[in-house]
Amino acid sequence: MSWLKKIDQALQKRRYQGLYRTRFVNQTGTGRWLQINDRRYLNFSSNDYLGLSQNKEVIKAWQKGAEQYGVVSGGSGHITGYTKPHAVFEETLSDWLGYPRALLFTSGYSANQALLAALLEPGDRVLADRLSHASLLEGMLYSATRFFRFEHNQIDSLQKHLKKPCSGETLVITEGLFSMDGDSASLGLLHQHSSAAGALLLVDDAHGIGVKGVEGRGSCWQEGVKPELLVVTFGKAFGLSGAAILCSEDLAQYFLQFSRHLIYSTAMPPAQAYALSVALKCVREGNHLRQQLQANIVRFRQGMQGFRNLLSTCSDSAIQPIFFKHRPSIQEVALKLRDYGLWVPAIRPPTVPKGTERLRITITAAQEFDDIDRLLEGVHLVLL
Ligand SMILES: *Cc1c(COP(=O)(O)O)cnc(C)c1O
Repeated sequence: MSWLKKIDQALQKRRYQGLYRTRFVNQTGTGRWLQINDRRYLNFSSNDYLGLSQNKEVIKAWQKGAEQYGVVSGGSGHITGYTKPHAVFEETLSDWLGYPRALLFTSGYSANQALLAALLEPGDRVLADRLSHASLLEGMLYSATRFFRFEHNQIDSLQKHLKKPCSGETLVITEGLFSMDGDSASLGLLHQHSSAAGALLLVDDAHGIGVKGVEGRGSCWQEGVKPELLVVTFGKAFGLSGAAILCSEDLAQYFLQFSRHLIYSTAMPPAQAYALSVALKCVREGNHLRQQLQANIVRFRQGMQGFRNLLSTCSDSAIQPIFFKHRPSIQEVALKLRDYGLWVPAIRPPTVPKGTERLRITITAAQEFDDIDRLLEGVHLVLL
């Protein structure tokens, strides 16, 4: 089959399945409101949990960083791309989270891939929670490692895998707070069982950092667990972008030697690292934002109680999935909400397993009670 034909068939299949993905031009950036196709929507689709993307101090810091250091790092960190703002932020971040070292990456996707690609060798084994993020699953597929998925947050299922013999090393992978379901991993038990089996634990806390724990130190801090490898990202509660791996001195040195993502890729702009230091300060001082977020979540969940028979959600985090029983097209529901001025994404396979299509509502500190009430009204109307 020719390339053209193959591509055409793949596209047709996607359309036929009703899974075709389209992008929209967002004319505003990610605040309380979105403007798309010249219409305004309340934004229930952003991961900017604390509303820091619009924070004046953070914006000013980025501008100041750009004036001082220019707008590009000019090379990989191994050449001259590792600037003072990078070094300062790495050190502040690692101190804050209680790790010897932090290494910055341009995205969470690349941090996860870098970590897995550098660490895993043939004969090693990865045991990952079934619902782990695509960047983690893909990292495993590219490595020549055997990988197994244990049942979502089921320690028994992990145990069963851990008991099987393995000639190499074992890496256990989970998210701290799951990105599509909003529930939290049993980090204490996961770490205990991993350690007992001589395995390393990697926690990807993209959605927990900034939101959970004292000063927003994340899921692990909240649970009193220190995994050997922690990945945090800055595209969510930090309101910026980028990511970091937190680890021991030795592991950091190892990644610096062997991570191609660090060696062959342009480091993040120094202005961004500079802004990240200020965002970190805002996160640490952001109790009022976390309280606002929490109050919004509570208001939403209370409002949803009336719909108990029709929908099920069990998350008490900012991520509120809604599953519609007996609704063939989640996309249709999302479109109806859009008519009502609410931007809520429909999440479909392959992002989530077949049969678990959902609306993924995200609550943020930038929203007001009126916004939450409007959302509840919208959901009510859709269900009538
Ligand atoms: C968003 C996300 C990532 C990817 O981070 P980016 O910085 O957006 O590339 C990785 N892991 C999880 C769990 C995420 O939710």
